[in-house]
Amino acid sequence: MKIELTENAKFIIDRLQSCGYECYAVGGCVRDSLRGITPHDWDFTTSALPDEIESAFSDCKTADIGKRYGTIAVILDGKPYEITTYRVDGGYSDSRHPDEVSFSGRLSDDLARRDFTVNAMAYNDRDGLVDLYCGRSDLGFGVIRCVGEPEQRFCEDALRILRALRFAATLGFSIEQKTAEAILKLRAQLNGIAAERIRDELLRLLCGEKVDFVLRSYRAVIAVILPELKGTFDFEQHSIHHNRDVYRHTVASVRNIEPDPLLRVTMLFHDIGKPLSQTVDEKGVCHYKNHPKIGAAMTAEILRRLCLPNDFIDDVCELIRFHDERFRPDAVLLKKYLKLLGEEKMKMLYKIQRADILAQSSYMREEKLRNLGAVYAELERIIESGECYCLRMLAVNGADLLHLGYRSGAVIGEMLDTLLNKVITGELPNEKEALLSFAQGGIDKA
Ligand code: ATP
Ligand code: MG
Repeated sequence: MKIELTENAKFIIDRLQSCGYECYAVGGCVRDSLRGITPHDWDFTTSALPDEIESAFSDCKTADIGKRYGTIAVILDGKPYEITTYRVDGGYSDSRHPDEVSFSGRLSDDLARRDFTVNAMAYNDRDGLVDLYCGRSDLGFGVIRCVGEPEQRFCEDALRILRALRFAATLGFSIEQKTAEAILKLRAQLNGIAAERIRDELLRLLCGEKVDFVLRSYRAVIAVILPELKGTFDFEQHSIHHNRDVYRHTVASVRNIEPDPLLRVTMLFHDIGKPLSQTVDEKGVCHYKNHPKIGAAMTAEILRRLCLPNDFIDDVCELIRFHDERFRPDAVLLKKYLKLLGEEKMKMLYKIQRADILAQSSYMREEKLRNLGAVYAELERIIESGECYCLRMLAVNGADLLHLGYRSGAVIGEMLDTLLNKVITGELPNEKEALLSFAQGGIDKA
């Protein structure tokens, strides 16, 4: 079995071997190479101790990124390559790092501490593939299976529960029965895991191709990390527009949008406000009038708990607030939205509404999609035409108004906004002379 190592990977392995140590590429890079996919990074495992790794690469730039845990990065062509000493891990009482690690001289110890069989293979050109846990066979059958006793492995580090789901979603693999049983049994242990670790795995899970399968089959695990979603489980919508409960609709909508973390997170939470906003009219029909606003507030809280950056949270919440907006292919209306939300968000809202419609019942689907297509075409026309919808595009600016005799910044801001609105509605042309002449009338206030 031969794996195509990159020049830098060969250099690292050769260097450590020529110093008398063992060294192998290990983990994700071996798994991905065997799947015929170019690895996005290469990790190495070695019999050399951290100090010995540093001396072996004394002529290279290195970085201590976790020497206590045995890891040194060697920087080649500006890229870090992680090299870790063979390790046996102790317990994980803080659920973040092993409490104690002891270094080992045996590759087999290092492979035994790894999470899943497909991630527990090592390779170098001298020894070929080292596969002590039938990882290659599991890779061939598309199976995620714990190395060792699943229950014990999840008790050591409960994050592995979410990692199993992440790999199932991204690789499109099934989860072996005993591993799956242990996941369900021990899922509550995820409560003890640091939010940042949950966040990183969750975002990757959401961007997986088989995200819908995982979110549906393991919703009991999702309920542990995102208990606010529980209200959507089996919540029937009683609406002609829907043939799925809120959670199943949500899952379908996640799958319908491209695998971008911002868009996938937005879809995951876009209807989370529905259960709390339901009203029933005299005919027995259900409405969810405030659900975007309620949902955005709930989502902000969840994303803060998961330690996502503020910009990301603001973007998701704004998209959720506007996800149900009724757009029409009307230039004035769309320019008002472009002014409010900007070009990028409007294009995202198009994708979001499309994913949403495709996850609804077929009732009026063609009409909804036709309208949305016309909205998008009109948006593109406006953007390409260069017609004015924001201050940056207005034919006058603050300096022009100062020149005219305006003095106060607040009044200048107000007048620019008035001019922009009048240009958008077509009451004024976007021409300097006409705008200044209108502004002249407001000069007294200045
Ligand atoms: P990716 O291609 O997504 O980076 P990966 O398999 O390289 O996948 P990493 O999170 O980078 O995933 O981890 C590198 C390797 O370290 C894994 O392949 C696995 O062998 C091991 N590993 C990582 N996290 C754990 C863990 N919590 N428990 C046990 N082994 C782990
Ligand atoms: Mg990796």
